[in-house]
Order: sequence, then structure tokens, then C-alpha cells
Amino acid sequence: METEVLVIGSGPAGITAAGFAAARGKKVILLEKNRELGRKLLLTGKGRCNLTNATDVQNHVANMPGGGRFLFGALNRFSPFDLMAWMEAQGVPCKLERGQRVFPVADDAKVVRDALVDFLMENGVQVMTGCRVRDCQKTEQMFSVKCQGERAFQGQKLILATGGCSYPATGSTGSGYRWAEAFGHTIEPPAAGLVPLITSERWLTPASGLLLKNVSMKIEDRKGKSIFQELGEVELTSYGLNGAMALSASLLLDAEEEYQLFLDLKPGLDQGQLDLRVQRDFSRYSNKVLASAFKDLLPSKLIEPFVSFITIPPDKLVNQITRNERLQIVEKMKKIPLTVVGKRPLQEAIITAGGVKTREIDPKTMESRIVPGLFFAGELMDIHGFTGGFNLQAAFSTGYVAGNSC
Ligand SMILES: Cc1cc2nc3c(=O)[nH]c(=O)nc-3n(C[C@H](O)[C@H](O)[C@H](O)COP(=O)(O)OP(=O)(O)OC[C@H]3O[C@@H](n4cnc5c(N)ncnc54)[C@H](O)[C@@H]3O)c2cc1C
Repeated sequence: METEVLVIGSGPAGITAAGFAAARGKKVILLEKNRELGRKLLLTGKGRCNLTNATDVQNHVANMPGGGRFLFGALNRFSPFDLMAWMEAQGVPCKLERGQRVFPVADDAKVVRDALVDFLMENGVQVMTGCRVRDCQKTEQMFSVKCQGERAFQGQKLILATGGCSYPATGSTGSGYRWAEAFGHTIEPPAAGLVPLITSERWLTPASGLLLKNVSMKIEDRKGKSIFQELGEVELTSYGLNGAMALSASLLLDAEEEYQLFLDLKPGLDQGQLDLRVQRDFSRYSNKVLASAFKDLLPSKLIEPFVSFITIPPDKLVNQITRNERLQIVEKMKKIPLTVVGKRPLQEAIITAGGVKTREIDPKTMESRIVPGLFFAGELMDIHGFTGGFNLQAAFSTGYVAGNSC
């Protein structure tokens, strides 16, 4: 089957590229190995889809430690505000949440995915699902693509949008790297980006699953140099820490190194203020055992592990706690030390760091600087950002540019 534009991969990058190319009058075929489109998109934002971040392009670039500068042009051409307006026009009104995070009002990623599928249909893109591409080659003026089951396609232009290689069950298994390499591109080795952190301490394990909101996290390297400091959410797990702050921090940490991490459970209060607060609770619960005195101050799931951590017998009566012990409690609430000894594997990462080297791609068009007519979009390239909607925006912006340029 022959066409003008072949797009491989129906993530946000591939769908945007295919739809906008077709909107410009091109005959487009979109190939997807899964039976449904945009499977990873359905998982985003815990099923609610954090579409983008309603901030300016400079801020987006600053939040993309991988390829931020490369994305500057694409973000200007299709900005977070363009994305929101486009979504609105496609029947998906959006809302703002903490940290300028943008979500669909419906709080449902499926609404976004379905709107993208409608966009493909409206523009006449021919969508081929269940089409696992095995090989891509360039012959004369055409790209030739072979799928499992011997189905074959030819296109004057080829857009690779096969994503990274994390969460492989969604279909993103890294096959695009192999083809890009065969076309002469360099692949920055894929690594886990935005991935939970493994800590050596186990005393928090009984509290696993607990989401701590409004805590602060600080991370230092072996020399005591500050690597990360933020206020936000962290989720306790059986192996260490998950949640937005741990994920963002992971982008800045080397998996082979060890780091010291400090959690402040009460960042809104200084040591003195927290001591006064603890004294108040201690006088209210003076005849109770120590564990009961924390019930207004800590989430119930955290009390037992915390009491084990401060090494004061949990059944000691509050009125028997010495001043020194109380000050020690306050100090530990403000500074829980944990040792980061690694990151969870690439398969569990929210994004893949690494991919096709951006210096081999024209940032104005997303066209390969090596093979004319070959374009890239989305996470397949060496681009990656923090949590907050920056990664989906990068996929949409690069998809838009590739689709309009091919
Ligand atoms: C759990 C989770 C939550 C996330 N939440 C957010 C969030 O809230 N906000 C945010 O900004 N980012 C989030 N991300 C990251 C975001 O989902 C990705 O950055 C984005 O999906 C990348 O889009 P893409 O189009 O480049 O690739 P993908 O979405 O990975 O799509 C690639 C597509 O290519 C197809 N494909 C691959 N190989 C072949 C082949 N050989 N033949 C045919 N088809 C093929 C795949 O099946 C897949 O459908 C999250 C990621 C995960 C895993």
C-alpha cells in the first residue's frame, strides 16, 4: 500500500503528527501495533492525564533537562496554550491544578485519547491497528515499511513516533531505536527517567502506600552538595519512595551513586514552632502512651514506623517523656534521613531518558539531518522532562512540527 506520509506509533506524538499532516491535505497512514490507539496515554496522570503545564516556553525548556533547548522552537510553534486551545476545540475543556498542571475537566485520560482519535478520523487519516512494524528501509525516493504478517507499506515521508522503552506492556518497546540506528542515527543509551527511588532503610515499609502531601525533600551527594530540594508529594513504598518529588529527583541522580535524602514532615513550621505544637499535643494526651500523642500530627499509618524510628518505647507514657526526648522527636520529624541506593528499573520508568540524538535532527522541522524525508516525534528522541505535564507537551509539540513539516 502506498501513501504520501507513513507514521509509526499512535502515542500523542504520532497521532498529532498524522492528524496535522492530513489536515494539510496529505494522504497519511498511521501504523500501530496495538489493537487500540494511545495505550500509554490512558495511564498518564494516574488515569487523569496531566496534559501540559500552563507556563511559558522558557519554563518548559527549564523543566526539560533532556533536550530543553532543542525543543524551544517546537514549543514556540505549538505552545501549552495552543495545546489547551486545540483540546478545547476538540471538545476537551481543561482545568488548572497545583503547580500549573493542566488536566481535562473530565479527569479522564480516555476523553483526551478519544478526542485525538476523532481528530484522526476528521482529517481522513487511514489508521491501521494490530500492525507491528518489523523493519523500515529507504529505497530510492520511498520509505518501505514491513509489518508482521508480511503486510507492507510505502511512503514518500516517514515519521517515527514509537516512543521510548519504559512500560513496555503499552507497546513502547524501543523498536524505533533499531531503525533509527540503521538509518545512520546515534542513539543515546536508554536509561530510566522519572523512576521511583530505592532506599536502604526498611522501617518505613509498614507505611507503604501512604501518600505524604506538603512535605519537603532534600537530596545531597556524598560530598554534601545539594542536588535537589522541593516541597510536594511523596509516596512511601516497600522499596523506598515514589510520587512526584521522588520521580523528578530521579532525573538528577546517577543510579550507581549513593545519596543522602532528608524528609521534612512539617516544612511549614520551624523547629521552635513544631516544638510548641508537640508540647500542646503532649499536654492534651499526657496520660496516654506516646504513640497516641501523634494522632493529630501524623497520618495514622506513619505513627508506628515513626515511633520505631525515634527509638523511644511506644508504650512509654507521654508524661514520662523527657525534654531531650521531645526535642529529639521534633528534630527527627523535621529531618528523616534516608539513603538512596538506586533507582527502579527502566521498565518502571515514566519516561525513557536517552534516544535518538537531537543534534542529528533539525529542530525547526523534526527532519533527520542524515536521511531526507525521515522525521521524528516524541519520546523516541533524547528528550525528557520533570513531572508536571512537560513530557506530553514535548510529544504534542514535536508531533505538531513533524506533521506540519513533512
Ligand atoms: C504511568 C505513566 C504516567 C505518565 N503520566 C504522564 C503525565 O501525566 N504527563 C506527562 O506529561 N507525561 C506522562 N507520562 C509520559 C508520557 O506518557 C510519554 O512521554 C508520552 O506518552 C510519549 O509519547 P510518544 O507518542 O512519544 O510515545 P508513546 O506514547 O510511548 O507511543 C508510542 C506508540 O508507538 C507504538 N509502537 C512502538 N513500536 C511499534 C512498532 N514496532 N510497530 C507499531 N507501533 C509501534 C506503541 O505501541 C505506542 O502506541 C507518563 C508515562 C507513564 C508510563
